[in-house]
Amino acid sequence: MERKTDNIRKGKNVRRRKREEAPKKEFDKESWKPKTELGKKVKKGEIKDIDIILDDGKIILEQEVVDILLPDIETELLLIGQSKGKFGGGQRRVFKQTQKKTREGNKPHFSTFAAVGNKNGYIGLGSGKSKETVPAREKAFRNAKLNMIKIVRGCGSWQCGCKEPHTIPFKVDGKCGSVKVEFMPAPKGTGLKAEKECQKILGLAGVKDIWSRTSGQTKSKINLIYACEKALRKLMNTKVNERGIGNTGLVEGAIKKEKTEEIKPKEEVEEKKDE
Ligand SMILES: [Zn+2]
Repeated sequence: MERKTDNIRKGKNVRRRKREEAPKKEFDKESWKPKTELGKKVKKGEIKDIDIILDDGKIILEQEVVDILLPDIETELLLIGQSKGKFGGGQRRVFKQTQKKTREGNKPHFSTFAAVGNKNGYIGLGSGKSKETVPAREKAFRNAKLNMIKIVRGCGSWQCGCKEPHTIPFKVDGKCGSVKVEFMPAPKGTGLKAEKECQKILGLAGVKDIWSRTSGQTKSKINLIYACEKALRKLMNTKVNERGIGNTGLVEGAIKKEKTEEIKPKEEVEEKKDE
């Protein structure tokens, strides 16, 4: 009996690997039929910048909105699961597999966590669950795109002081469950000194140098990811006065070629685009 189940499990693993390598579908703007007001405006070209949506606090309900506004988006699945194994557990996996015992047998469920970002100031995290791996992954990508946030970058390191947006402008922390994460500004050339899943998130967000400190059960990756997200959200929610912006070279969201445009109020920039 045991052998049989083992074989089935092995078969599943092989299938899963093939599916993970499946090529991405190219997004077709013409065939997309938007259902929400926001979607219609984006398709017509009335909204060309995702900042307008995020700053107003509007809720994105269609993932195609993000596909159009951030075309150079990159996706990555985070390792939240674990394969079965002896001697202290198996390897980390993309899918977290859980089972429900029923009269008919074990019913497996798969959940996964996706991070999307353009490596230039925007990041989204989302989870997906399903009875099979592919729909779970699709749901995770969708939820991540609907959950986009903007981050702030600058140089808040007293050792560096270069006023370039390569790290974060100030210290932030986040907590979920027992996991506490702290991110600190680091000088140029430090790299991402953080836990591996946090590295993936920060890399997709476009942060190049960072120091971090964690405490609690960081083995529970989902809590770690949520703590990481909460810390990154604090970057936008913290108010910085003008002196702070000048000293750290603070940049919200994407880095544009002309830095002066970035500091100007939003309305002025919008008017320029209309002309
Ligand atoms: Zn610096």
